[in-house]
Parts: sequence; structure tokens; C-alpha cells
Amino acid sequence: MVAESEFSLIEQYFSSLTAEREDVTLGIGDDCALLQCPQGKELAVSIDTLVEGVHFFADVDPHALGFKALAVNLSDLAAMGAAPAWFTLALTLPENNPAWLEGFSSGLATAAKASSIQLVGGDTTRGPLTISIQVHGLVDAGQAVRRDGAKPGDRIYVSGTLGDAGAALKHRLEAWSPDVLNDADWAALQQRLEYPTPRNALAEPLRHFANAAIDISDGLLADLSHILKRSDVGARLQTHDLPLSSSMKKLPKELARELALSSGDDYELCFTVPPKLADELEQQCSDITCIGEITAQSGLILVGASGQETTANIRKGYDHFSA
Ligand SMILES: [Mg+2]
Repeated sequence: MVAESEFSLIEQYFSSLTAEREDVTLGIGDDCALLQCPQGKELAVSIDTLVEGVHFFADVDPHALGFKALAVNLSDLAAMGAAPAWFTLALTLPENNPAWLEGFSSGLATAAKASSIQLVGGDTTRGPLTISIQVHGLVDAGQAVRRDGAKPGDRIYVSGTLGDAGAALKHRLEAWSPDVLNDADWAALQQRLEYPTPRNALAEPLRHFANAAIDISDGLLADLSHILKRSDVGARLQTHDLPLSSSMKKLPKELARELALSSGDDYELCFTVPPKLADELEQQCSDITCIGEITAQSGLILVGASGQETTANIRKGYDHFSA
């Protein structure tokens, strides 16, 4: 029974697993946590809810689920240029399943320890499996990187590679299995879907160099279009410059490009940088790729390898379980 004690569940499985920070006056165990927000910092706060059958498959490995539930929230902090500090967890569980809780909490702890974030409170309820995590990050006052700061002429960058998680999802949802991909490719793509790497190491360079940023949860086109809308600008993307993993490069070019543009769940960062800072940025950061530039003219233009232009049809990326 979950109702046996929500308190003991959170304490038993989670309290000792995450980082211990000196700015936590009081963590799990009282009516509220007490947290010290330093002078000159702003608190960056974000919440994300994952529902079984909507955001994840019922048979997902609980370790992967715990990791990803926190990683997607850490990704939002990275996109704002904020450093992870604390998080709270609300778990709705159909039953008290110790093996599931072990796996889930261990995955969560792996993500938490890698980013020095501490669990400071939680709640458990009985019901269909649902995970809500709220993260709190710290950023120098006035220095957060928002979606509304992109300027015409800015270079558009993305971190890592695009489309990997989308390919893994397509494999799972459509039984799509092209001959060019072998077991090692599928393992690599699946890893990207289940264990996305939150790009918190980019938070500081983003604060220094970027005018605007977002994390790619719904697909590059969908998420970049949020920046364009909020900043009241347009963009030209060089679609042959999209960064692809070695597995994605084995696919037909058109298909790889389509996945890189439109599929979600990669949790890479997309950000815009004034051209005069581009060289310094590229010297400081590896694993980022310039894919286009911001334009004063609204709209999103895709430029192909031979220079042909098409206007992007901005739709939502993969809708998890769109069926
Ligand atoms: Mg986001």
C-alpha cells in the first residue's frame, strides 16, 4: 500500500540518494524544505509531468525512467543558463513495488549526482503511474537566457546530434527497421531516447554568449519556432549542416534530415549567438554546430545542399504516442 506512509517511501528510497548541498537548511522531513537563495541570484523554476502511456511506455526500465524524469527537467535549467540546485518529486503509484522503486530511485540518483542537485521534498499518492518533478536552479540576476532575445544576424547553434531519439521512437512505434542499422546502432539510438544527456555544462557559455536559447524536446523546428515567435524574428537553416550521429548518417539523407528537423526527445540545446562572439564560443565549446542564422524577415526557411530554399512547415514534433 502506498498509503502506508508517503513519508517513509520518499525517505526510504530517495533521501540519501541525491547530492547533499550546503545551501539546504532543512531537506526532506518537515512541512517545508528551507533553502538558501544567495544574494544576487534569481531562482529558475520548472516542472514537468510524465504519465505512463503518454510520455513513456508501460514496460520502460524504471532506472531509465528515473534518469530521464530528472534529466528532462535539468535540460530546462540548462536552456535558461541556470545551475541546478534543488528538486521536489511527486509520485503517483499504482502499487508499492519495491523492485520498481529501487530501479527508479537509482536512475534518478544517477542523474541527480551528476549535476549536484538535491531532492528536498516529495509526495506520494496512489493512482495511475505519474511522475512530477519540479527543479530549482540558480542564475545570476538578470543573466538568464530567455527565448525572446534572438537578434537578426545571430548564428543558430545546436549541441550534440539530432534525430537519434526520434529514430529509436520510430523503431518502437512503427516497427521500422531499415537494413542499414545494426544492433549496435539500435542500442546507441535507444540509449539516446532513454538516457538523454542534459547539457548543463553549456549553461555557463550560454549565459556568456547566447542571446536566446531553448532545449529541444519537441523537435528542432517546433522548438526553434518558439524562439522565433518570442523574439519576433525569422531564421534560415542550412539543413545539410544538421549534426547527425554515425548511426543516423547511415540512413537515407532525406529521412535523417526529416528526423533531425522534426522528431523530439533529443534534449539538445538550440541557441543563438551574435556573430562577433561566434569564434570565441567555438573555441570554448566542442560538440556544438552552427546550423543557420536569425533573420529580420519572419518565417523559417530551409536551405538545402544545393541552395534550394523551402519554407518550413512548422508542426509539433513527434507527439509521443500520437496514435
Ligand atoms: Mg524546455
